[in-house]
Amino acid sequence: MDFSSIIIEFLGIQDVVIEDIKRFKKDLRAEIRVRQKRSECYCSKCGLQFSSVKEWVLKELKAPPLGIYQDVKIKFWQMRGYCEDCQRTSIAKVDWLHPRFEGMTCGFAEVAGRLMEEITCEAVSRIMKTDSKLMWNLDQYRMQVMLQFLRLPKDIDVSYLCADEVHFRSVKNKARKSIFSKIYTPQFITNLVAPKAGKILFNAAGRDSAALTTAMTVLSPGQKLAVEKFAVDMHEPFMVAIKKECPNAKIVVDRFHLVQKINEAFDKVRRSEFKKARERSDHFQEGMLEPHRRFVLVARDAVLSKSEEKLIDKLRLANKEIQCSMLMVEYFHKALDEKTVPGFRKVLARWYQLCRNTRYKPFLSFAKLLRKYRKNVEGYITSRLTTATIEGLNNKIKVLRRMGYGYTNETSYMRKILQRCGYLNHLSINTDQFFFKWPNPA
Ligand SMILES: [Zn+2]
Repeated sequence: MDFSSIIIEFLGIQDVVIEDIKRFKKDLRAEIRVRQKRSECYCSKCGLQFSSVKEWVLKELKAPPLGIYQDVKIKFWQMRGYCEDCQRTSIAKVDWLHPRFEGMTCGFAEVAGRLMEEITCEAVSRIMKTDSKLMWNLDQYRMQVMLQFLRLPKDIDVSYLCADEVHFRSVKNKARKSIFSKIYTPQFITNLVAPKAGKILFNAAGRDSAALTTAMTVLSPGQKLAVEKFAVDMHEPFMVAIKKECPNAKIVVDRFHLVQKINEAFDKVRRSEFKKARERSDHFQEGMLEPHRRFVLVARDAVLSKSEEKLIDKLRLANKEIQCSMLMVEYFHKALDEKTVPGFRKVLARWYQLCRNTRYKPFLSFAKLLRKYRKNVEGYITSRLTTATIEGLNNKIKVLRRMGYGYTNETSYMRKILQRCGYLNHLSINTDQFFFKWPNPA
């Protein structure tokens, strides 16, 4: 058995001879000197063997870890030869050298790339002992290459789909026309979700019809026809896009989005009450209505201690607006729990009544939306779609954003979402070839 050929294989390189291996036991570092095989050097223009050697060029390359030796360097002697047919000298072609990042082998790039599917570029740069900016660039390059291989699994169930937008960032408006125009404009990413598979199929920037249409380009014409139910927000542009692209789909406004909207309405009331409490120096209410408490007040599954429950009861007794708003949210949940459409209509009618009596603007505008899309909301009652996966994916995206300490690059953010929550990773796309040769991005 030829051990040097095995080491060459482990390194993911080809057509070389090992001349020397230096091991530095103290810091588990290795330096491997390899030379290109004279018989395997070909002219990059005509592909024939060189007639003579012009010179040997030394390159230093990062190589994948070998066992416990994490820091492996290759000192590579590459040949520059003279080709008689082309009458010129050129450097011999090497596939396993990374085409874009010359200081590394393809194997190293793929090992680092797979790590970056799971953890941040920063973390990978520490493990692989490289520059973090270089790792970031490599990751972008790799995701762009992989995008051309992105295919949905053949047996994927697309009968139930969901469109969901996630907040990307808020940009400051530079040219504000008046003091009443918004200071910040939020930017969104639209994700196309297959809840049955628990994956994000594709995404696009923005949250208009065009964004959802772009996200749906990942579906084949047949798959588009096979969509039976499409869960969305009460957002007209999405509905327009779905009607056009998936004519067979029943558009349903699902519970997740409904609850999101009513919680937003509640939050508007909470904010104004918080301001009022601050103005009259009511420290108890101010503390209870702080922004970070907004979910505790309306969360249905919040586990509260006895003392916390008491505090909330005290707040409800003291503040009529909050008490009524909380009741509105609770009552709305009750309506959504109804199993039949007539039952739902009955409870909702009473909810509308309550809404009119309180005259809270945020709830009134929510009620108006509900009326406009009542057919779609009732679709939820009959279909009983579960939204657990969408919530789970949204959570995952939030964690992803936190891990990267926020994203400033939209493309990078969108691709990372596809990588972590979709099919843009080596588990779905076979990238074994990347260990030896990298294709160019399209
Ligand atoms: Zn030639």
